[in-house]
Amino acid sequence: MQFIEALKLRSKLFFLFILITIGLIIVGIMGAININSMKKSVDSLYFGSLVPVTELNEILQIYHGKVATTFYNIKNKEISFDQANTQVQSSIRKINKYWSQYESHFKRDEELEYVNYVSLEIENANKHFTSVFQHNKDLKDINIVSITKYITHLHTIIKKMIQYEIEIAKYDRKQFLNKYNSTLFEVGIVLLAIIIAVLFISYHVFASIQRDQTKLEITTKKLKRANKKLENVSYTDALTSLHNRRYFNFIYDKELKRAKRTKCHITFMMLDIDFFKQYNDTYGHIEGDFALKSVAKVLKDTLKRPSDFVFRLGGEEFGVLLTDTDELNSAKLAQNICDAIRGREIRHETSKVNEFVTISIGVVCCVADDALDDDALISLADKMLYEAKESGRDCFVLSTDVSFAKVSKKVSV
Ligand code: GH3
Ligand code: MG
Ligand code: MG
Repeated sequence: MQFIEALKLRSKLFFLFILITIGLIIVGIMGAININSMKKSVDSLYFGSLVPVTELNEILQIYHGKVATTFYNIKNKEISFDQANTQVQSSIRKINKYWSQYESHFKRDEELEYVNYVSLEIENANKHFTSVFQHNKDLKDINIVSITKYITHLHTIIKKMIQYEIEIAKYDRKQFLNKYNSTLFEVGIVLLAIIIAVLFISYHVFASIQRDQTKLEITTKKLKRANKKLENVSYTDALTSLHNRRYFNFIYDKELKRAKRTKCHITFMMLDIDFFKQYNDTYGHIEGDFALKSVAKVLKDTLKRPSDFVFRLGGEEFGVLLTDTDELNSAKLAQNICDAIRGREIRHETSKVNEFVTISIGVVCCVADDALDDDALISLADKMLYEAKESGRDCFVLSTDVSFAKVSKKVSV
């Protein structure tokens, strides 16, 4: 069954179809051959035995009925000599007709001798019955005893033939029934063999299809997982493992639309590490990267809700997107972030604000509506960040006035 395994799904089904078709053709051919031979058997039973018996019976009937009765009627003077002659001649013609029909049927070699004998006897008897009318002018001279003798003799030999034909018919019938039963048995066996073969091959074909299906499902699952991984990688910042700018663009649009639809609060924070250039200059880039990772971890730990999104937008800039959080809670969170970063105590001796690394935050919080411009939150948060830097760093500045962003945007354009 190795070769079934190697076939493609379509070829497997095609193979099964071919197998079933061949099976049906074989059964069909067998059926046709056997039905044909049974037809021949029925034919030979009917024309070989039953029809001949009928013909022989007819002949007997004519001898007994017509011929014998005619001679008795002559004797009793119930009919005239000429009438009797006509009746006997007509009976003889009928007898000859039936006899030639009987002779035309197939005869076995062993029958032929007896058939020829009966044929001669019939011929003799008929000649005798004809000659009775030629040689006897007077009805009284007809020897009824000799006629009875002829008829009795014919009766005996034809009866024997009938008996023989009946025996042959019985034998043929038995043969026919035997043939019928053996044909039924043969067709049954072949059908059973074909069914078993089809079941066996079907089992392997379907098992193989099932295996292919399972393999396909496993491969699809693997592919889905790989795709998910790839998607995650493409949305993740390699250094901090936070969401990257790409993912921010995607989530920002989605969340803004949702907030607009549900008319709920949306908060965006823009975060920037204070004096990070100096940090790099003081401790080197590698230490700078460590500091970025530490800041990212603090942000992740501070914003734990599933709906809180933290992004690394680029360099030492981060973004936070919150939904369903009002100004008060947004402000509290921003303050927590500033405290937590400072509280992480990453030494920064060249910072002009604190001995540890600090962060400044521009916060925008508003109830979203259809009038809210798509970029309003970002540009206003940027402005608020600038203000936070201006007002001494290590702090946040919050705005709820989104219209301001629109105006300032318009002005800047
Ligand atoms: P400010 O308080 O005004 O924000 O001062 P700043 O020094 O942080 O401002 P600036 O934007 O001039 O400096 C950002 C610095 O961040 C510049 C660059 O050396 C550093 N930086 C940006 N990306 C990375 C990074 O991936 N790794 C490291 N180590 N440093 C980075
Ligand atoms: Mg910066
Ligand atoms: Mg900075």
